[in-house]
Amino acid sequence: MKSSIKICALQVITNSWQDCLVIKNDFREVEKKEKRTKKKVTIKNILSSLEREDQVLLEKFKSQTKFDNIIITALNDEPYVYNNIFILKENISELLELLDELSFIYKSDKNYLVVKNVDTLIINECLNVIGTYPNINLTLVNDEYLLERKEFIENKLQVNGNTLYLTTVELLNLNNYLQDKDNTTLLLTLTNNIIGESKIIRVKKYTLLSDILDNYFKINTDNYQVIANGLMQGYEITSLTNFIITDDIFAINIINLPSQAEPKCINCGKCIDICPSGVNPLSGKKIAKCLDCGLCSYICPGFVNLKEKLKEYKK
Ligand code: SF4
Ligand code: SF4
Repeated sequence: MKSSIKICALQVITNSWQDCLVIKNDFREVEKKEKRTKKKVTIKNILSSLEREDQVLLEKFKSQTKFDNIIITALNDEPYVYNNIFILKENISELLELLDELSFIYKSDKNYLVVKNVDTLIINECLNVIGTYPNINLTLVNDEYLLERKEFIENKLQVNGNTLYLTTVELLNLNNYLQDKDNTTLLLTLTNNIIGESKIIRVKKYTLLSDILDNYFKINTDNYQVIANGLMQGYEITSLTNFIITDDIFAINIINLPSQAEPKCINCGKCIDICPSGVNPLSGKKIAKCLDCGLCSYICPGFVNLKEKLKEYKK
């Protein structure tokens, strides 16, 4: 990180001019790294890289020497979130090569790259290169909710046995760890539903959200909400000033505040009908099966905050 330092005079709280040191962060990475060493793709190297860099991903590989299937998905369940398909588009050759190597070292019988059938541009790009990898099966699926989750995609593809499941974002992270590449940034889908604009940007981890919004979106209303990690399963950010972009943040949505005055249940039963797990979000029946998918809240015509209700039942 490069910082500029200058001496200047500043009027401080005492209301008198004092000499001060101002340290300004230019948010650019100029770290001088030792020469990068690309590691061979072996089980030992994968585990040692993940032990150092990524405990979440490590859980998926830990104590495994064989997978029956490997599923890589370029799907995002959340509306207005495009990170996984974007990563595939940007890194298609590298990702296919790594998937091919994983299939070899983990001796997997079936290897899938899963893309939504509506993503026609990326499908054509995949078809251009996938012939080089005869053991990888390009699989197209309908644009259905929850296919980003392991149990749903396994069910859809009807695979049996021990499955390694990764998103394209996770596969690229693994690639970067193995190649000792910079890992100080992350991808963020930024959507302003008020003006109907979306961007996918790469930001430095631990950047203040307020700095990003100042740079990318002028919000011309006070009547808005900022949602982190998707409209269906995400949550409202209540303090914009202090919110920082950490590893687990992948999307920011800016939306108009709902205009209705008082949320009111009209007993339509839609929230119960739509639940994929058979939970009754109103009574809390079968609450243990709740997937936190957000469908019941999203569909409610009375704008009842069912997410909050579910949280209460889970306590
Ligand atoms: S969907 Fe909303 S309005 Fe309909 S029964 Fe459920 S909570 Fe009530
Ligand atoms: S959030 Fe829970 S209760 Fe609501 S639809 Fe999803 S699984 Fe069912």
